[in-house]
Amino acid sequence: MTKEIEFYNFVIVGGGPAGLTASIVAARNGFKAVVLEKSNVAGPKPRGEGISIYPLLDEILGKDFLQSIGFRSSVASTWHSPGDLQQTKTPRTRPHYFFKWRDYIDRLVDLARELGVVILLKSEVIEPIEKDNMCVGVKYKDENGKIQEIHGNAIFGCDGHESVIGKHYNIPYDTQINCPIVKCLVSNANIDINKTPNLQFYFIGNGDLEYAPSFPQCVVYVFPLGKKEIEVGLMLRLNRVHKMKKTVKIPSNSEIMEVWQNLKQDYPGFSDFFKGANIDYEELTALSNIRMVKNYIPTAGIILIGDSAGFVDPFGSSGLIYSMEAAKFWANILSTKINELSGGKTEVTNHLEELWSSENIEKYKKKWENNPIFKHIKKSYGLIGKFEWYIFKHLRTSERINKKWKLISRLLKMPEK
Ligand SMILES: Cc1cc2nc3c(=O)[nH]c(=O)nc-3n(C[C@H](O)[C@H](O)[C@H](O)COP(=O)(O)OP(=O)(O)OC[C@H]3O[C@@H](n4cnc5c(N)ncnc54)[C@H](O)[C@@H]3O)c2cc1C
Repeated sequence: MTKEIEFYNFVIVGGGPAGLTASIVAARNGFKAVVLEKSNVAGPKPRGEGISIYPLLDEILGKDFLQSIGFRSSVASTWHSPGDLQQTKTPRTRPHYFFKWRDYIDRLVDLARELGVVILLKSEVIEPIEKDNMCVGVKYKDENGKIQEIHGNAIFGCDGHESVIGKHYNIPYDTQINCPIVKCLVSNANIDINKTPNLQFYFIGNGDLEYAPSFPQCVVYVFPLGKKEIEVGLMLRLNRVHKMKKTVKIPSNSEIMEVWQNLKQDYPGFSDFFKGANIDYEELTALSNIRMVKNYIPTAGIILIGDSAGFVDPFGSSGLIYSMEAAKFWANILSTKINELSGGKTEVTNHLEELWSSENIEKYKKKWENNPIFKHIKKSYGLIGKFEWYIFKHLRTSERINKKWKLISRLLKMPEK
């Protein structure tokens, strides 16, 4: 006997912040939603653990929930020029908290389940299913290794920076969307939070590291978390490197980790934090923060949301709130349209063509691109493009960046939105 294909209004690929938020919003709107997550838990690996407070957090997670699991960070960031020769401090306009990834993801999972969202763990999506030039579902490998199909009115690709959905539609994550990033959690760090309360960012230009002269421009950061704990990391900035072939060589993963080990041991200002410290977590991953994916509706029926769409504010690499905002927008706009087409019956299998007509897709896109959240991210990418061109390509060397530090400080002080 063949198993009947399951049908949901929203088929959501990936149980990270974007996918879980979309499922919560869809379920609150009265729709059937399923989340397919490849791992044995939603959001298996810690990614962002710092967030500025926006009303959406109360709306999705519950009033003051985020604050209840978090540690309030300082109101400023300190930026260090190459070699830590000069520093500048910039204020933060919103309260900012650090929290544990697992607490945040588990809350989203609990809320989704309470609302009746089906979360299928160990269910790895392999590819979209298309019919008449429209995506109508996905194929996935279930927990027993069997290939299954699941169909829906709308398919959301929320499967992060290596999105199988995005790759299916030829989104060039590795070369044009993603930057490598090392995430590291440290306890017993050599830090006095009273003396160093701020987030610390250290610019390293191309050519600054004599042991890796062709290493791309990058930033190392330190987030003080209290109780002698810190999050530290290394973000490579690759958006200018295609024009810097003479001086920059894209490093392999092992070369990145070698540089990271060296930076921890010996980089002015930065390596001091590691004296006597324990490394509790260390991983090389990637973050989609070079540019937004233009083709975020790669075919009728499917939308890329969150990291799979490069929807990250590249200043500070903040993707949590923006992936949640994008998820809310797309779950709401499609809920409204499905309701309209079905006369409130929440199921529109017969109206799929209308739901995804070219005219309607254009309307959805127009609304999204006029949304202040979309405009903010677009503007941020524009600004960081110019900023990084200036410091990392035009000035490039440590000496020249240090000479122009006053101007760079002014640019860094442009207000946070
Ligand atoms: C080191 C690091 C530090 C960061 N720091 C911050 C920060 O401080 N503040 C901030 O706002 N943002 C930060 N970010 C960015 C933020 O974490 C991301 O923007 C955010 O997690 C994006 O959410 P997402 O749901 O789109 O993707 P993800 O969080 O990547 O979730 C994707 C989910 O999809 C699942 N999945 C993948 N492929 C499949 C498949 N084929 N089938 C089924 N499931 C699949 C994954 O297992 C995962 O659960 C950081 C990111 C990194 C990497």
